Amino acid sequence: MTRSEQLFEEAKHYMPGGVNSPVRAFGSIGEAPRFIKRAEGAYLWDEDGQRYIDFVGSWGPMLLGHNRPEILESVLDACSRGLSFGACTKAETDLAKQICEMVPSVEMLRMVNSGTEAVMSAVRTARGYTKRDKIIKFTGCYHGHCDAMLVKAGSGSMTHDMPDSAGVPKGCTQDTLLAEYNDSDSVKAHFEREGKQIAAVIIEPVAANMGVVLPEPGFLENLRSLCTRYGSLLIFDEVITGFRLGISGAQGLFGVTPDLTVFGKIIGAGMPVGAYGGKRCIMETVSPAGTVYQAGTLSGNPVAMSAGYAMLTILKNNPEIYDHLNAMGDYFFGQLSKIVKENGYPYRINYTGPLGCLFFTGTDVKDYESAKTSDTQAYAAYCRHMLEHGIYLAPAQFEAIFLSSAHTKAMLDETLEAAQAYFKR
Ligand SMILES: *Cc1c(COP(=O)(O)O)cnc(C)c1O
Repeated sequence: MTRSEQLFEEAKHYMPGGVNSPVRAFGSIGEAPRFIKRAEGAYLWDEDGQRYIDFVGSWGPMLLGHNRPEILESVLDACSRGLSFGACTKAETDLAKQICEMVPSVEMLRMVNSGTEAVMSAVRTARGYTKRDKIIKFTGCYHGHCDAMLVKAGSGSMTHDMPDSAGVPKGCTQDTLLAEYNDSDSVKAHFEREGKQIAAVIIEPVAANMGVVLPEPGFLENLRSLCTRYGSLLIFDEVITGFRLGISGAQGLFGVTPDLTVFGKIIGAGMPVGAYGGKRCIMETVSPAGTVYQAGTLSGNPVAMSAGYAMLTILKNNPEIYDHLNAMGDYFFGQLSKIVKENGYPYRINYTGPLGCLFFTGTDVKDYESAKTSDTQAYAAYCRHMLEHGIYLAPAQFEAIFLSSAHTKAMLDETLEAAQAYFKR
């Protein structure tokens, strides 16, 4: 037994499935999870002393790699002054201001502790502001685990073939309407039927929880104009895409402006942070300015704020990081595509910049149905091979590959060699 296997056995005794988030259990690739001891740059080391090139990056936050010195220093400095005060700090305004400056559609925002919390609160705000109840979400989009969003939620629920969760009362999802990704007509149909009851449309502007699925030209624009026409709010869940696809996220990349944006992952640089924000007139409905209640004992935690501020400061002062990330994405996904093709596999690669996915299917992947044509057993075998060769990929088909600025060309080449060895056999 490896040390990781021993630790997993013990963990299973004390935590459901041995984990604090389902995908970490490695269930879908039939392996014991690696217990990670430390990380540096693009490397992880497990408890058995094995080193891996990390393509998960804590599921997104580690855009600059692990343990970036500026971020670490900023966090240690904040820690030395106290871990939490439950009172106002300058650090909160620093990060809020930084986000508002980088993402023009965000004029005001509220910090919370996770993406889930941010989505839940953004939805409440949209309902409070519009005085309407219904929300449109897309099949295969994941917006965290709040009750109303756990309908065809992609990601872990897709892998485990449990589209809905037990314990979610019907009442909690009766106002959640489903539409199909990249299908404007499915959204239009809802609006034509009950447009005056729809508070908001929430979407991952690039879906990254059914594998990676890009919006087709015009799709996001159509959502924008439908929302405007019917007086509904457009909410972009940029928990993954925010600050990854560019300095102002997917909305900057595609030039489509949402009313509310949800952030998480990168804005905490690895600390538990989420945020939701948007137009001032909408955000002023949030308490205590307005009547939509939302609070948090540890929200805006000074240590977490200092991590996020250091992260965004690096990105803002070094915008060329995005050119580098995009070039790496083109190289890596381009080469991977070549390898797969040369060896006769009809697989599909979807990517944009440093966010991508290899689907084990011969069908173009543009929505939930086509994503589900992937051969998850084949992905599992590939993933196990890569793990054996020191490459740490997401242990499930419907997750993304996350590149970071700490990945070097040599690391990408090592990864491509391992993939080549696998697909050649
Ligand atoms: C991860 C994720 C969330 C949830 O964030 P947590 O911090 O895990 O609660 C919400 N939306 C998207 C798009 C995500 O990828």
